[in-house]
Amino acid sequence: PTHHCKVVLAGTVANKLMEEVRRDVAKLEKKPLLVGFLANTDPAAKMYADWTAKTCRDNGFDFDLRTLDKEELEDAILAANVDDNVNGMIIYFPVFNTRHDSYLQQLPLPTKDVEGLSHRYLFNMYQNTRFLDPPTNTQKSLLPCTPLAIIKILEYIGVYNSILPYGNRLFGRTITVVNRSEIVGRPLAALLANDGADVWSVDVTGVQRFTRGAGIKNRHHLVEDREEKLEDVVPKSDVVITGVPSKNYKFPTELLKDGAICINFSSEKNFGPEVKEKASIYVPAIGKVTITILLRNIIRLVENQRAVKAA
Ligand code: NAD
Repeated sequence: PTHHCKVVLAGTVANKLMEEVRRDVAKLEKKPLLVGFLANTDPAAKMYADWTAKTCRDNGFDFDLRTLDKEELEDAILAANVDDNVNGMIIYFPVFNTRHDSYLQQLPLPTKDVEGLSHRYLFNMYQNTRFLDPPTNTQKSLLPCTPLAIIKILEYIGVYNSILPYGNRLFGRTITVVNRSEIVGRPLAALLANDGADVWSVDVTGVQRFTRGAGIKNRHHLVEDREEKLEDVVPKSDVVITGVPSKNYKFPTELLKDGAICINFSSEKNFGPEVKEKASIYVPAIGKVTITILLRNIIRLVENQRAVKAA
């Protein structure tokens, strides 16, 4: 039997977005500089840093990887905050692997935070406020890279319905997200619900529903604890997005509705090959899109810095 599943690779989506990034970076007065702070010995972090370095250099950005001791990190971030040559910074976590990491994460000034994880950006995201300077609205608030990468993939594959007004383009879609981490799963569920989707957020601690209410009447999403289990919510989902960081985990594809769209953002393969027998579209990985969004966020920062100077 022939399967009609279309596999969409991250590289394809990334190339299209990168064209735009390259066009924008060419218009800047000077090459933007991204600084990476590596204070752990995680080989995966080093690999991601090297990959970011290459992507930067291939596309008109400078990247400076600063390898340092954990205890030097705080001062190094503060120095980068006041260094006009540094346009953005990225810190590779975990560093201490305790709550202290959350403290470190909030040290970069929002004007230098390419990952979009500063409290101000998260606040705007959860509150569905899209600009930093309402009501003038000249400076766009940044969004966290990985959730935004997933949104760009959903736009590319047509889950966002462009006939609907901006901000409501997921109205009518039911989406399950398996992972509710503070870096990816929770912000992703919130963003999707803010755009109008009915979102089922699944983690080991339970299931929550994120929506803007019946008829998407609310201005931003609300969250409810629910009794449903994965097996109750997957069969009604148009899209399933997974991010379970373990080798042994395999998503139960028999639960999928025929023709569902499946996206995996975990570094592990959460879907087995049989997913192609059920899915209409399958996106096995997203890393290349995330890095492209990182570069796009640097441009946002430079534009916002310019808007502040002009004001
Ligand atoms: P994390 O460890 O902070 O969070 C993982 C979450 O998944 C936790 O909340 C955990 O409880 C939950 N989980 C574990 N098993 C589960 C299960 N069986 N069902 C439901 N939930 C379960 O990790 P993270 O930062 O969210 O990253 C997750 C994965 O995504 C990792 O593999 C990471 O490497 C990858 N990642 C990829 C990108 C990218 O751009 N491709 C970016 C960031 C993270």
